[in-house]
Amino acid sequence: MSELFEFSEPEDFSPASLDSWKVLSVEDDPAYQDVLELALQGLQYQQRDIELIKVGSAAAAANILSARDDISVILLDVIMETDDAGLFLIETIRNVIGNSIIRIVLLTGQPGIVPRNETIYEHDIAEYWNKTDLDADKLKSVVVSNLRTWQTSYQLQVAKRGLQMIVDSSRSLTPKQDNKEFANTVLEAITRVINVPQSGGITCIVKSNAESVELAPIVAASKRFKALIEGRLESLFDLLPMKQQLRVKTAIYSTWQNQNHTFDSEFSILYFDTSEYDNQQYLMYVDSPFRLDTSHLKLLQVFSENISSGFVNQALMNRLSELAYLDNATGMHNRNWLARELNQQTARYRNQSTLALFRLRNYDSTEMMVGHAYATNILKAFGDAIQSHFPDHYLCAVWDQETIALVFKSELQPQIKALEAFRAEPIQMDHLDIQLQSQIGLLDFSDMSSYNVNQVLVLANQALNKAKTYGELVVKFDDAMMQRLARRTQILTDLKQALINKDGFFMVLQPKVKLTTGEPVGFEALLRWRTQDGSLCPPGEFIPIAEASGLSLEIAELVLHKTIAAIQALTTAGYHLPVSFNLANSDITNPVIFNGIHHYIDNQIVSPDLVDIEVTESQSTQDYTVINPILRKLIDKGVGVSIDDFGTGYSSLSQLTELAATTIKVDQKFVSDLSAQNNGNALHIIQMINKLAERFKFNMIAEGVETEEQRQLLIDNNYCTAQGYLFAKPMPVEDALIWLREKSLIKNRSDSD
Ligand code: C2E
Ligand code: MG
Ligand code: MG
Repeated sequence: MSELFEFSEPEDFSPASLDSWKVLSVEDDPAYQDVLELALQGLQYQQRDIELIKVGSAAAAANILSARDDISVILLDVIMETDDAGLFLIETIRNVIGNSIIRIVLLTGQPGIVPRNETIYEHDIAEYWNKTDLDADKLKSVVVSNLRTWQTSYQLQVAKRGLQMIVDSSRSLTPKQDNKEFANTVLEAITRVINVPQSGGITCIVKSNAESVELAPIVAASKRFKALIEGRLESLFDLLPMKQQLRVKTAIYSTWQNQNHTFDSEFSILYFDTSEYDNQQYLMYVDSPFRLDTSHLKLLQVFSENISSGFVNQALMNRLSELAYLDNATGMHNRNWLARELNQQTARYRNQSTLALFRLRNYDSTEMMVGHAYATNILKAFGDAIQSHFPDHYLCAVWDQETIALVFKSELQPQIKALEAFRAEPIQMDHLDIQLQSQIGLLDFSDMSSYNVNQVLVLANQALNKAKTYGELVVKFDDAMMQRLARRTQILTDLKQALINKDGFFMVLQPKVKLTTGEPVGFEALLRWRTQDGSLCPPGEFIPIAEASGLSLEIAELVLHKTIAAIQALTTAGYHLPVSFNLANSDITNPVIFNGIHHYIDNQIVSPDLVDIEVTESQSTQDYTVINPILRKLIDKGVGVSIDDFGTGYSSLSQLTELAATTIKVDQKFVSDLSAQNNGNALHIIQMINKLAERFKFNMIAEGVETEEQRQLLIDNNYCTAQGYLFAKPMPVEDALIWLREKSLIKNRSDSD
């Protein structure tokens, strides 16, 4: 931008709006005014006349100067209505009106009254003359030399202001969402930079595959050309005076041809090319009612460079957004686009809409059989069929590789019957009728008004997945179902945050006791999570969500750590009792957990016989060839392994023989069934499990003992150990210590009795 300051020689320069130089004479002596006028008559500077504007008071001068900025020189009488009226005017010009470049020549008839030096210095007074010393020739040379100085200052001022404006405008030229908006911003900026008055105008046109340049559409226009927006370039010519028409036309053609800006004395045509990115070229016709002076032209040139890169950025942005919002394979809009469109709607409008998801069934096996390219073609044909079958939709997008989404105004949403009929019909593909298996879900946005668009889309997806597992083919997702899903999503969001903050988690311990005496033999550590709102979220709710979302390991580490701390607290208090803790799927095989346990034991942080891990039956048998060796290693170290919820999984007898475990925990389901009268079946299972355990030398724990009756039945069937509310509920570690103390007091008392 440095060329901004490489000014042309003053000879080149003429402020475009000036047909003559303006000199203001401020003088309360009309006779002297006439003398000045006479002396300056016929004087020219750079082929322009000098116009003397005469006022008789400082007040009148202030008025004029605040209204116009084309006055170059003031010939100012110091003493007028008051002795210091002139000096007061100077103060006003510089500080109130803020004109810092106007040249002020002081004249006085009383040689004795001289302004103080600092006044001259502070207010940039050009010269100070005794009227009597100033003859006609001197006056002329004073005026001309001050005109020259003003001219340079004026150029500098324009450049400075323009530069500032370019900087400001460039900020607003960051790519906007669409070309029109961008073009309008450019027009506004350019109007400010070159200061086009209301009567002027700027047109911006774009060529978008028009056959000829005069048919190119006008995408933005300002000032007197505003009405041309959306029209074609040829309509611009009609608005121009006849004599200008031909010149403008010729200039436009040559600009187009030469791909260069054209600067004419009466208009400019700027050319911007983004064809490399989006096949577009832009012309900007800048029309100003007065000739642009060289400073303004230079500004325009500099600014054009800015605009040019702005247009290119805009084109790149468009290209990027195309990539971001289009599904490459089908060429249809994608899910991001759908989310953006829905996000841009008002909530009121959106809540009157219905989302329909059409999902191909068995996509994976289809893709496997026919290949990815053909499977994509199927999706495309599916999309086409859906769109033409349901023409009332107002948005359509590819949701994922097997799903198409349509959005309807709710009153136009398809009826279930129509959806079922569509499912049953074959679709056309490559001139063949093919019968696709699909599944359709409908979601009313009004049911989901408390969620944002992205959450709704995620929930809709989950709902359809769920429907898939239940085999529902056309399903309207109801409010209750969505709320359940939403709660899961909310839990997951909160859980992630809680795990980051390590916040709200604590362990509770539930005693395992001897059935006959109630004497504690160990504890199970169970995790508790207090959410931000202070409520407890049950592990049965958040643990499966954590497992399903890959957060299981985070939880397992936390649980291991807290369990070890609980064991230490017990040991410190003198209780040598094992504590078991639960591990979810995959945690067992995770080296972090495995090595963690080994670390605590090898470094003698805890004794191995105090550590017990609980794995569920289904886990341990799912792939016991992988899990068994790991569990075996732990057992060999002295760690206990309990099979939790035994009886609800899938283990067969043969697997049980190989299971690496030390303890079997009989699921509370069987225990609770024990209390139901005449339930021989439950009793039978309890007995059978006991026999198996004896045979394979497993320890046995009965879970969920709540009644005396159950306790008795278990004792009768050779069960020794149990866990349940009958004995104690899970409690925080401190409470467990108190509970233990009370128990031992009771025990000591009964021992001494
Ligand atoms: P679980 O491991 O089978 O734990 C036993 C559950 O039964 C506990 O529920 C316990 O409070 C409850 N319970 C104990 N005695 C009785 C009783 O007499 N009657 C009834 N009705 N219930 C009783 P909780 O703490 O809600 O845990 C539920 C499940 O959540 C656990 O089942 C376990 O699978 C899982 N879980 C709990 N803590 C953890 C943990 O730290 N890590 C992992 N991975 N899972 C955990
Ligand atoms: Mg357990
Ligand atoms: Mg259990």
